[in-house]
Parts: sequence; structure tokens; C-alpha cells
Amino acid sequence: MTLKGYLQILDQTKPFYVNLTGYGEPLLNQEILEMIKESKKRGIYVNMSSNFTLLSQSEAVKLAQTGIDLVKLSLDAAKAETYRKIRGADLFELVVKHASNFSEIAHRIGRPAFQMVYTLQRDNLPEIEGIVRLAKTINVDYLFVKPLLVGNLSSNEGLLIGNLERDTASKHLRQASRLSKELKVNTNLSSLVSHVSTEWDRHVTGKYNSSSTCTLPFYSCYISSEGGIRICCNADSAEYDLGNVYDDGFQNVWNGEEYRSLRVKFRERIRPYNICDSCDIPSSFSARPDGLITKAVWSIIKSL
Ligand code: SF4
Repeated sequence: MTLKGYLQILDQTKPFYVNLTGYGEPLLNQEILEMIKESKKRGIYVNMSSNFTLLSQSEAVKLAQTGIDLVKLSLDAAKAETYRKIRGADLFELVVKHASNFSEIAHRIGRPAFQMVYTLQRDNLPEIEGIVRLAKTINVDYLFVKPLLVGNLSSNEGLLIGNLERDTASKHLRQASRLSKELKVNTNLSSLVSHVSTEWDRHVTGKYNSSSTCTLPFYSCYISSEGGIRICCNADSAEYDLGNVYDDGFQNVWNGEEYRSLRVKFRERIRPYNICDSCDIPSSFSARPDGLITKAVWSIIKSL
């Protein structure tokens, strides 16, 4: 996406909140810092995830100075060996070094908030206590642990669960949660511990057994680098495009027939896409600060 295209999107959507994360590393975009600065000039809250491979000391200073509000380090290993296995590259030490530098800069200048996001899967679950320790060492403000979400669960079951037992998974999470309390690491681990059964069943059955409904389509959308407007970031291909921000105009698509009929389904607690079946986003929101927004939006939707 170009800066010019991004500014067109801002002008059309006038957002309060932008997450500059899609399917890829945002720091590969040569104009990303300008995009953040332009967003901040407009008073928008900006959040971005990165794998931190490109965030050298000088780039970290530039990123922190853009005024960005929240930066998330996407990391899924506490050991170099596991990192190599999952990511296919020998960059663990470099990422930890970049993250430590960035944390020091962010705490020194007082912004942005710095979060670590750990995506749980079979290969990294046993080292979850290690990630709590690493979060403490790097001094992140928050450690968010989320089970891997993949659309086609049946073909990825080995990756997700492999030969793990539910009790083993539960034990690791409980130990990590206890450790986070001892080390005073802010995290959602205790919430995850209390939902182990639900999460486990989701991976085994491919369905998320939760009564929570999704409110995202009422106040949020995902726009791809080509301008495709989609219901959320889990809609991972152009087949989910409801229109194009450049060709059709945001307002036309947002208020169009197709979007409106999808919202009606969500209001009636029908999940319209297959990707919604195993999605934990509606539930995970209750464990996050934006859970308050979800509750408020749902009470408005119900009253319509
Ligand atoms: S339930 Fe999940 S996949 Fe479906 S629209 Fe909501 S966030 Fe997207």
C-alpha cells in the first residue's frame, strides 16, 4: 500500500483507531513511518505488530518518535531452536536484541506501550514459562498469549495439538500463569487457564463453543493492501472482499446491501462465514481492554 492510497483511506473512513497490521511485516513498507505520522496528525490511535527482525536501534528510535501508541512484538518461541523450527530462520537472538532496545527506548521516552504477543501451538507450549521470563527480561508492558487460529483446522491439527494431552497443556498454562504473578508480568494467562477446555475443544472440533457474538462488523473492518474491504482480519483472501475502497468508495460498501445483510446475521447470532466457526475473537475481547467496547456495542445492537 502506498502512502497516497493510505491517505485516501483515512480521508474516506475517518477512523478513531488503526491497526497497521495485515498479512506480512509492516516494516517492509518503505512509507510506514509516514503513514503513522499522518495518522497521529489526525488524532488517530495507532497500533502495529511486527516480528522485529528489521527494527535496529536507529529504526526503533524513528518508530518510537512517530508517536505510535502501541507496538506489538509477534514472537512464538522462547528458545532459538524453537524459533528456527517455527519461523524457518535463525533470527531469535537478533529479535530479542531489537526488542530489548526498543523497550528501553519506549520506556525512556514514555511511549509507545509495548506488548508481546505469543501465539501458542504444539511446538512452543512447553516453553511458555520461558516466554514469561523473557517478557520480564525484555520488560514489555503486557504479554498476550493467544492460541493459534487457522481457518482449516482439520488439516492443521498436527501443528496445533500433535501428541499433546489436554492435561499437559493445562499444566503448562497454570505453571506459566503462576510464574507471571510471581514475576509481576501483566498477561492474560489466568484468563486462558480458565478457558482451557473451550480452547481445547475448538482445536479438536474446529468449532468455538461460545455464546459470545461478534460485534466487529458494526464498528470495524479490514482493508487489504489492494483496498479490498473485508469484515475482519481473519478474512484472509480477496474472496471475502465486500467491495474496494478505491473503486467503490468506503461509504457505499460499508452501508451496502451485502454488509448490511451480514450484520443482520451477526445480530441474530448466526456466524456467516466458515472462518467464524473457530474464531475466538468475540470471546477473547472480554479478556482485553476493548471488551468494554464490545459490551457497549452489543447493548446498542440489541436495542435497535
Ligand atoms: S467471528 Fe471472527 S472471523 Fe467472524 S467476523 Fe467476527 S472476528 Fe471475523
